[in-house]
Amino acid sequence: DKALSTQRAVVAGLGMTGQACVRFLQGRCADLKAWDSREHLTVHASVSVPVTLGTPATEYFNNVDVLILSPGIDPQHPVVEMARSAGVTIMGDVELFAHFNTVPAIGITGSNGKTTVTLLTTHILSSAGQRVVAAGNVGRAVLDTLELPLDAIVLELSSFQLESTSSLRLQAGCLLNLSDDHLDRHRTMEAYLAAKQRLFMHCHQAAVWRGQDATRPSRQVDTVIEYGLDAAAQGFGVSGDWITCNGENVLDIRRIPLAGSHNVLNIQAAMALALSLGVSPAQAAEAVYRFEPAPHRCVDIATINGVRYIDDSKATNAGATLAAIEGLASSIQGRLFLIAGGDAKGADLSVLRQAITDHVEQVYAIGKDAPQFTDMTPQAQRADSLEHAVRQAAAEAKPGDIILLSPACASLDMFSNYIHRAEVFRDAVHALEVAC
Ligand code: ADP
Repeated sequence: DKALSTQRAVVAGLGMTGQACVRFLQGRCADLKAWDSREHLTVHASVSVPVTLGTPATEYFNNVDVLILSPGIDPQHPVVEMARSAGVTIMGDVELFAHFNTVPAIGITGSNGKTTVTLLTTHILSSAGQRVVAAGNVGRAVLDTLELPLDAIVLELSSFQLESTSSLRLQAGCLLNLSDDHLDRHRTMEAYLAAKQRLFMHCHQAAVWRGQDATRPSRQVDTVIEYGLDAAAQGFGVSGDWITCNGENVLDIRRIPLAGSHNVLNIQAAMALALSLGVSPAQAAEAVYRFEPAPHRCVDIATINGVRYIDDSKATNAGATLAAIEGLASSIQGRLFLIAGGDAKGADLSVLRQAITDHVEQVYAIGKDAPQFTDMTPQAQRADSLEHAVRQAAAEAKPGDIILLSPACASLDMFSNYIHRAEVFRDAVHALEVAC
């Protein structure tokens, strides 16, 4: 970009994304410095530009043209406001990427399933022989892909990234679904939806779920491929044990490596997106059969005394847990025991009440927002820790039953992150095995 060489830039946030921004901008713009809100951050050794931590001096933005915002920093952060009132242009790293990218891009957003669909789509395209990487929220930082020899790029985009993006051109995009998450930062569902809908600003083809109207593009796109769990003569549908495409059976659901009907939707979305880059439904189906699921997303981790233990620690909101309960309920013979709770991030979990009444035998509620479960239903009881919850559930379960960790909450009140939560779960489950 010819303009960039004259620009004076600040990279805001020095996590993985910010570091990629510094690498990319170094030598490409007229002046570069970096800021991070964390006063005691240990700055990565690769960052060799002037760094300011905490609150910068009032004149910090005086000779600055552009601020590149990392997704972890709130666009309303006082320091970002300070830049804005100094007349600085604010953009996200995805926006910067969009100015330079020349490779056909696929964009995926939504409340749940983004990583799964991003990895699935990448896997399908790469199985079809295309040179492709996943980037954005999963895989690498988008700016790190610009030098790679690629046929396509698959982007997982959060609403925070979309909020600060306006030039991204997409060959195909999908807004998977919307649920009551992230309301602490977006305040209203309307603002959250508006951010997600920015995906379709310059999008050639949309994959659209028939099950939720709010996910349809609110802007004109050139073509639409629809998908859903119902029968459909056009696009993707379901008939018996088969996913269909334009009325033909294309994928045998019994051979899918991911549990639950929500994952049938994820697969249809990924297939629809891959079709936009020339892959055939049959090629896509073959690839799906060989997909290795990402951990902590409705994955079986053990069967002990005939009881299945499923790790869905990545379920950090009610929508994900709802999908897990309903998705598993349709296929299990025995009873379902749910371990849930943590920090609900201000969300109302009562959307789970009906599904718990219909499909769950007992809930073991942990963490800060455990009372949301115990107030919601007499089927819920409090457990002092995740280990206790596992032991209590195991004491009740019989062969054929499932014990599902699907918290509907963030983990930070009890664990370092959802991966740590999953490790504690796995260790507690394996401790049962030893005890047997
Ligand atoms: P994201 O990247 O959007 O957080 P993931 O693929 O990491 O999504 O999955 C996050 C959680 O959402 C997991 O608990 C998973 O089981 C659940 N999930 C996956 N796909 C869907 C879907 N289509 N609808 C609802 N929940 C889903």
